[in-house]
Amino acid sequence: MTEMLLKYFRTNQQKWQAEKTYDTQCPYCSMQCKMQLIEQSSFTNKKYKTISKDNPTSQGRLCIKGLNAHQHALHKERIKYPLFKKDGEFVQISWGEALEHIKINFTRIQSEYGLNALSVYGGGSLTNEEAYLLGKFARVSLKTKYIDYNGRFCMAAAATAANQAFGIDRGLTNSLSEIPNSRCIIIVGSNLAECQPTMTPYFHKAKENGAYIIVIDPRETETTKMADLHLKLKPGTDAALANGLLKVIIEENYVDDLFVQDRTNGFQELEKYLNAVDLNEIEQITGIEIEHIQRAARKFGEEESGMIFTARGVEQQTDGVMAVRNLLNILLVTGKIGKPSCGYGAITGQGNGQGGREHGQKADQLPGYRLIDNKEHRKYISDIWGINEKDLPKKGVSAYEMIEEIHRGEIKGMFLMGSNPVVSNPNANIVKEAFQKLKFLVVVDMFISETARYADLILPSSSYLEDEGTLTNLEGRVTLREASRACPGEVKHDWQIICEISHILGKGKYFSFKSVEDIFNELRVASRGGIADYYGITYDRLREENGILWPCPTINHQGSKRLFETSFAHLDEKAVLIPVSNYSTVSKEKISEEYPLYLTTGRVLAHYLTGVQTRKSSVLAARNFESFIEIHPSTAMKYRIQDNSLVQIESKKGRIVVRSKWSNQIRQDTVFVPFHWADSQNVNCLISDSLDPTCKIPGFKISAVKISPID
Ligand code: SF4
Repeated sequence: MTEMLLKYFRTNQQKWQAEKTYDTQCPYCSMQCKMQLIEQSSFTNKKYKTISKDNPTSQGRLCIKGLNAHQHALHKERIKYPLFKKDGEFVQISWGEALEHIKINFTRIQSEYGLNALSVYGGGSLTNEEAYLLGKFARVSLKTKYIDYNGRFCMAAAATAANQAFGIDRGLTNSLSEIPNSRCIIIVGSNLAECQPTMTPYFHKAKENGAYIIVIDPRETETTKMADLHLKLKPGTDAALANGLLKVIIEENYVDDLFVQDRTNGFQELEKYLNAVDLNEIEQITGIEIEHIQRAARKFGEEESGMIFTARGVEQQTDGVMAVRNLLNILLVTGKIGKPSCGYGAITGQGNGQGGREHGQKADQLPGYRLIDNKEHRKYISDIWGINEKDLPKKGVSAYEMIEEIHRGEIKGMFLMGSNPVVSNPNANIVKEAFQKLKFLVVVDMFISETARYADLILPSSSYLEDEGTLTNLEGRVTLREASRACPGEVKHDWQIICEISHILGKGKYFSFKSVEDIFNELRVASRGGIADYYGITYDRLREENGILWPCPTINHQGSKRLFETSFAHLDEKAVLIPVSNYSTVSKEKISEEYPLYLTTGRVLAHYLTGVQTRKSSVLAARNFESFIEIHPSTAMKYRIQDNSLVQIESKKGRIVVRSKWSNQIRQDTVFVPFHWADSQNVNCLISDSLDPTCKIPGFKISAVKISPID
């Protein structure tokens, strides 16, 4: 009998069968590609593969991150039970005990130090329902004004600029399908070929159709390879370059006079300001020859359609808002918005960077892109939530400013969900000090991230394969991510965790949701009449229609593919032009004798954000298992740095050590380091705490550093 069993075992152990499939969406970038995980079992093993699924955004494409996303979701290091820190070690406890710890500690902190001694920190990968619920949790269950999220580091500059100029912030003013027919495209500060790879074919198609592509970036990247003109500017000089382009556009009569007159305010002030702009000075500031500035401006001006895309390279600056405003000035003076294949796109980084900033986890916002300082908005949301408007907290502060409040001792406790601020914040050494000062930190995550190490309590949350909900992609298209895989161990969904904590804090009646769809239905009503109006979107419609672009105010509304065709969203229906200075009002770091090089940061293809998930994937980790400094060979030789050798990088804020990677593709005065690694390789240890004065995005993209070889 035993022999027979062994024979059966040997024969069948490699026969793959019992296939299970899970329809889902990639958890990483804002393309939110649809995909399917296929699980195959043999007698002894399981294997997985991911295939793409067709949808209007990714059109059946996937990149290497999506193909391997399941590796972190199925990883053996996932936390499967609540963990409580006892004598410096995490020990497994029950959910009942975990909730009791939260009740005792949160109650004690608030009774000793006041309601605002607690804070909430969210993330741009949470579903819309969970982002909505987290905002409600902060304001109703904890009654604290302190809530913000990591999207502050991602989209705040573009969102503020679009709100100021157009009256609405939706990532793309058009659907992606309009890109291929655009005649001239300017991409600023984006390496989309590596950050949003499945978006790239839209631009290749445009090129095939004859489009002229201009890429503005201090580095040569996979994205600059498709450029007809690459403007390799000095880091941080985007606003000045836009002034140069605008000057040529106005002086050489590429202005759409009718559009400017009928649909904008502020042209005269802009024109007057640009009269005084000197192209020679722009050349000096940006390092871009006048001839190239003229070529770019003429190309954009003369074509009948054009689009401008921005990303973190221009946005993560202390003048991020104004630099983007100046690029929007270009669109508006040439009348290239609200028409076919004309418009603006802020290429959102995080999976739900768009939806995450619409429904209330930002310090100044309420659901539907309502404002927490607006009396009517406060009343509307208070009524939906069944609370008195007077009990709704006021505006808090931005994500990094919350860390400063912790450091100052104003904030004593934090509930943190889906984020890793110890790695992602600027001035990262101070962030660690701040987290050590907290009296009680609850972290909800799938892994013991660098931030979770500082937690008193870690709660295990579900992955993209298990958690259902809606996400809003970079176009503003709301999609439904189904979930069919059961949670491992005692893992719970984020929305369940928020509801259970609210119950134990005595606020259960405000959180009596039985399903995630229940939450969405409340969100729909809460967003009704707001800028980001989701009222007409239902789960049934999302299943049938494969995503709907907001605003969608009624059940019969088809969604809004192109914005601003007839009006902008300001009261007078006009867009706003504004003169923008060549220089930031918050001074940017300058290179000096002591710190002679510019440091800029960004992503690599295989990793996502702080790498908590992608570093768990063996395939992705194998492609880039450590950080590096990209450096021009001439610069490297000047500082005696061999290729592939260890380098110390130092700024006024800290120092890190990474391996060198010689490259002719970077400016000689600039080095590049990716931000996916932690501890001694965390480049954010080098970044200063300077913030854009309006949107409070940190100036990640420019620091002054010195480098030296490590023997
Ligand atoms: Fe698509 Fe972005 Fe995921 Fe790549 S990382 S598969 S582009 S969603």
